[in-house]
Amino acid sequence: MIACPERMVVSRLLSAGSEDRRPLRALRSGFFSSDRLSILLFHRVLAERDPLSPGVPDGRSFERLLRHLRRVFNFLPLSEAVERLVAGELPPRALSLTFDDGYADNLKVAAPVLNALSVPATVFVTSGFLDGGLMWNDRVREALRRHPEGTAKLDFLGLGTRDLGSLPERAAIAEEVLKSIKYWHPREREQAVTELESRAPGRPPSLMLDCEGLRALALAGVEIGAHTQSHPILASLDEADARDEIQGSKAALEDALQREVRFFAYPNGRAGADYLPEHVSLVRQAGFSAALSTDGGANTPGVDPFQLQRFTPWDRNPFYFAARIAHHRGTARPGPSQQEDMDYEL
Ligand SMILES: [Zn+2]
Repeated sequence: MIACPERMVVSRLLSAGSEDRRPLRALRSGFFSSDRLSILLFHRVLAERDPLSPGVPDGRSFERLLRHLRRVFNFLPLSEAVERLVAGELPPRALSLTFDDGYADNLKVAAPVLNALSVPATVFVTSGFLDGGLMWNDRVREALRRHPEGTAKLDFLGLGTRDLGSLPERAAIAEEVLKSIKYWHPREREQAVTELESRAPGRPPSLMLDCEGLRALALAGVEIGAHTQSHPILASLDEADARDEIQGSKAALEDALQREVRFFAYPNGRAGADYLPEHVSLVRQAGFSAALSTDGGANTPGVDPFQLQRFTPWDRNPFYFAARIAHHRGTARPGPSQQEDMDYEL
């Protein structure tokens, strides 16, 4: 008898001894439907596990995960997935893979795995980092990695006094810092991050794709999308600056790649908080074909193609990972934000 992929997932979940039956109910309700597109959101895939970023997969676990997902889901390139979603012609268990921000490890670690398994993906690149620089959240993590051991007064970050010891302890403090300053005014946040960096000797590693890496990633068959120039919260900008961020990233990437950039992902990505209806209009006016949020849930044919939903159902156990996708497939409306997940969008 040929094994049914859904039954395999269900039986493995049951044998894993979980008492939580919600994933199983979701498997039955949403998982089997053929009119839904799930879009996964990743950021980094590390060469080796990093205790400072415990929620981020390394290459081996990423490969293991894709091998399991490939047995259950039908991976589609985002362009094909959006076309078939709008036309109501999706295959069953349709899934697309995306990465945000434009990390160099997407080329060095993730792309070889994607190619080996013939899994299509789209990487949304923050164009301003092609010439160097780091995302502010990475500057915080790397400064805390380098910070001398001992007691540190972190009042300027909205925290109290903390003991900086092992990397796992520092990872927990980094999460506190990121949550504390995420929505500060960009100028104040920049000052706070610069102050933290001034207390940490040495320099952070370069983590982002440069132009050469961007072209290599495109040549490797990965679709490139735009993610603004400097990764601002669009809702915090005036209209002219928001337009510049959206149009400028498309123009810079198209100039580097000499090809059209069709998709856009909103930084941070929560509708009504990080971007507003006027930003959806600006993305349309810029000539993109579709845009992606980070509001969770699966996409049905009536969805606004300029507010496609994505989620990061990260779980180190591939079966629970698949079950979390199934749970989200059962929710076609916006669900909880990414911040419940460890590899959340910044
Ligand atoms: Zn981002």
